[in-house]
Parts: sequence; structure tokens; C-alpha cells
Amino acid sequence: MEVAVQIFCGGFSGTAVPFEAVEEKLLSFIKRFRVTKVIMGWSTEKSLYEKTAALLLKHNIEFYLWFPVFSETGALRDLSPLVDYTGNVIERENNNSSEDFFFCCPNDRFNIAKITGIFNEHFSSIKFRGIFMDKIRYPSFAGSRGKDGVFSCFCPECMKIYLNENFDVEKLKLSLYDPEFSLPGIKRYYGNGRYEFHDKVMSSFFQIKKNIIYYSLQRICMYFRERNYKIGFDVFAPFLSPFTGQDIVKLSGLCDFIKPMMYRITHAPAGLPYETEALQRHTGNKTISNKFFSLDFCVKELENLSFESFCHVYAGIEINRINNIAHSDPVYIEETINAYLKTGIRGFVLSWNLLDMPEDNIEKVAQLL
Ligand SMILES: [Zn+2]
Repeated sequence: MEVAVQIFCGGFSGTAVPFEAVEEKLLSFIKRFRVTKVIMGWSTEKSLYEKTAALLLKHNIEFYLWFPVFSETGALRDLSPLVDYTGNVIERENNNSSEDFFFCCPNDRFNIAKITGIFNEHFSSIKFRGIFMDKIRYPSFAGSRGKDGVFSCFCPECMKIYLNENFDVEKLKLSLYDPEFSLPGIKRYYGNGRYEFHDKVMSSFFQIKKNIIYYSLQRICMYFRERNYKIGFDVFAPFLSPFTGQDIVKLSGLCDFIKPMMYRITHAPAGLPYETEALQRHTGNKTISNKFFSLDFCVKELENLSFESFCHVYAGIEINRINNIAHSDPVYIEETINAYLKTGIRGFVLSWNLLDMPEDNIEKVAQLL
């Protein structure tokens, strides 16, 4: 089993964590077990990455930049936003955290150029081995605009695609305006993010969104491949992925490793209880139940993904302990790691911030891996 670890060193705006804090925690961490990758982002403080890169080189550990793609980047460039079905722009979410979850339209070519421009300006001089792309999606039901964020985008560029694909936008809009209409109308779940919907308009709509994310990421990956970077993807758990425009099996063909966020106890974006509750609340859906974040179900999800994935699968599990958000403890870690070891995955990404991982959790992981 390979072990990778994530470090959140600050957002695009605000102050970065001091190098000494990263160094102390990393040194104590890598003494316990073999770590193959460190993924750190996404403050723009260059010296922090340069010092960390030197430290990791000495220990023969690959250094990845944790890079948010379709959200957060709006803090550094003026990106064209998503448009909802009424024609209004989907604004920035108001929260006090270091993440703004402001998604741009992933279909806009200028946005893509500006996003790679951010990398070029702030990060291209640092010796990263790879890029770990996060926020490679649309908003989920848990976003501040609920289902309006999921049923986007209606900007002129996206409208052109719907027209080319013969997609009936008016039919979708009628459903969205009708409060009695049950969205998205799930009939059955087959695994690996594949659903059968009651209404064909839903399957077509999500398929088009998945294609948009895929082709835009293909362009972005081309930019990084030409510069010899390895690529990792941070994706939602399979059952949540299609509602955010992620076809995880197809996406696995673009990267070197894929990390589904199997956050069974996280009450924050990407956390399974949090996202599932939002999906149920906004859609009245009964097919997706709380059993979808049970250990048995997550094992099945990882088995299915490992079987079909074109690249290595690393399970993302919460090792950090954050009050009221992710109360991860050694008991949770033990049952989770032991169960996932047998799913065919290649490794684990210890998520999502080493700096918030308590000693007892780290000790437990060290015993198990
Ligand atoms: Zn758009």
C-alpha cells in the first residue's frame, strides 16, 4: 500500500502557514512510515514550497501541488461564472473559511487559459513532481444554491453545446420551474456513478456536464503533460460524482492516480453525510439513503472503481480531526483502513490536512500501514 498525505498550507488569499510548522509535522510523520507523495496547496507563498521541495527531495518523496481548478481560482483571476436556469449568475458563497466554493464555467475556453495562467505565474518555478487537481467539478447539492448550482450552466457557451447535442433545454427548465417535479428522479444506482433516471432529460443533462468536465480537463492535463508533470485527481465518492459532472471511470483515463473522497464522517463539502443530506433535502430522493456512507457500501464503491479504473485508485480518508466537522479517531481509522485494504486500491491519501492530524490518529495509521 502506498501512502500519500495532504497538507493545506493556506488559500489563495490570506496568510500561508509557516514553513517551520510544516517541517516539524512532516519530519515526525515520515519517521513512522514510508510516504511516497506529499500533496500541498494552495497558498501562493513561493518560499514555503521551495523549502518543502528541498526537504522532500532529501527524503525521496514526490511533491505534488494541490491545485483547485474550477473554484477558488476566481480569487486570482476574473473568471466567467456559472449561470443558473433563470439567467442569473451564481455568485460567490459567503462563508468565513479559506475556501469560497465559487465555481466558474468549466466550459469556457478563456477560463481554462486563465487557470493554467495562475499555475504559470505562481507555481511553475517550483520543483513539483506532479499536480493534484481538486474542485474539478460543478457545485453539488450541498453548495449554497442547492439544486440551482447542480442544474447549471446556462451561459451562452453552454447553451451552444446543448443546441449541438440536441438537448431539450426548455424541457429541463420546465421541470426546474415546476415545484412538484421530483429532481433528479433516480430509479436505480448501478455503481461507479451510473444511475438510471425516470426522465431521459436528466440522464442527457448529466451526460453533457460530464463531457464538459472531461474535455476541459483533457485540455488542462495536456498543458501539464507537456511540462512533464504527473497528475492526480481529487474526486467525489462514486455515488455523488455524476451530480457534479464527474464521470470518474472516464476521468481515471486522464490521470496517474485518482482519489475518491470517501469521507464517511465529514460534515463539510465532499463529506458523505453532508452531501447525502443535501441531496435528500433538495430532491426528496429516497434511493440514496444513509447506507451510502456505511462502511460496507464504501467498500463496494472502492471495489467497483478499482475494477474499472484506468489508473491507480487511492482512497481518501479523513485522518485530521476538526471539531464539529470531522471527528476522526483511531477506532474509525482502524475499521476503515482494514476494510479498504481488501478492495483492490493501490494506496491511501491521508486527508486532508496533516497539520490537523492528532498524534493518536497518526500512530494508528502507522500501526496499520
Ligand atoms: Zn457555462
